[in-house]
Amino acid sequence: MSYKEICSLCKGNGYITVVVKGQDEIKQCWLCESKGEKEYSMKENNLKNNLFESVIDVGSGYLLAVAIQLLIFPLFGLYPTILDSMGIALIFTGISMMRSWVWRCYFRRKHEIRIYNH
Ligand SMILES: [Zn+2]
Repeated sequence: MSYKEICSLCKGNGYITVVVKGQDEIKQCWLCESKGEKEYSMKENNLKNNLFESVIDVGSGYLLAVAIQLLIFPLFGLYPTILDSMGIALIFTGISMMRSWVWRCYFRRKHEIRIYNH
């Protein structure tokens, strides 16, 4: 299912003014491709679904990390208990979540531009 909504970026104008290095520039709206409205799918707007996907993503990564450690560590002469492996996987999962969060913040800030609506 999908529905149409007035474009949130250009407010239905199809174009926007962006400020690049202190100068105004008229740009075609890239969000709605100058149509003034955008088609959204229900899935895109469903935060609950996104959360569910994140939980599945992180959860499966965690279980995989525990399983891989139990298989791989003995090859290196390490014999952690299941509880040890779960603790180690938890630390790695936490660090990897932090890492993706830091990168997301970094790129969001880099791409930030000032936008005026007409
Ligand atoms: Zn637009």
